[in-house]
Amino acid sequence: MIKKMLGRHKAKMKLSLRICVHCGLCAESCFLYMTRGKKPEYMPSHKIINSIGKLYKKRGKVDTALLEEVKDIAWKKCVLCTRCYCPFGIDIPEMIALARRVCRSQNILPDFDKA
Ligand code: SF4
Ligand code: SF4
Repeated sequence: MIKKMLGRHKAKMKLSLRICVHCGLCAESCFLYMTRGKKPEYMPSHKIINSIGKLYKKRGKVDTALLEEVKDIAWKKCVLCTRCYCPFGIDIPEMIALARRVCRSQNILPDFDKA
């Protein structure tokens, strides 16, 4: 199921992951990065590489531990506010939103969604 979900967006996501040059220009437009002491793990580029990037790298063959890591990034380190700006046109929130959908499909949910 994960493979199928990733497959639907493969061309765009893989292109985005490939063109990210790690310039860090998106970082200052992310309020979470700015208000969390500019910790690297809050940088938008770091977030996409370690969430959706890892899912593609492993071709969807991921275990629960990795999905839990992805969940933490996708919900705790990004609120999908769409404020981040990438001069290369990378749509960061769209990528994080896909990472969330993959987690949800495996019943890996943010704490507030659990009964
Ligand atoms: S997402 Fe865009 S702005 Fe951010 S590091 Fe990658 S290329 Fe630079
Ligand atoms: S969408 Fe996520 S990465 Fe972009 S500015 Fe908002 S919190 Fe930061």
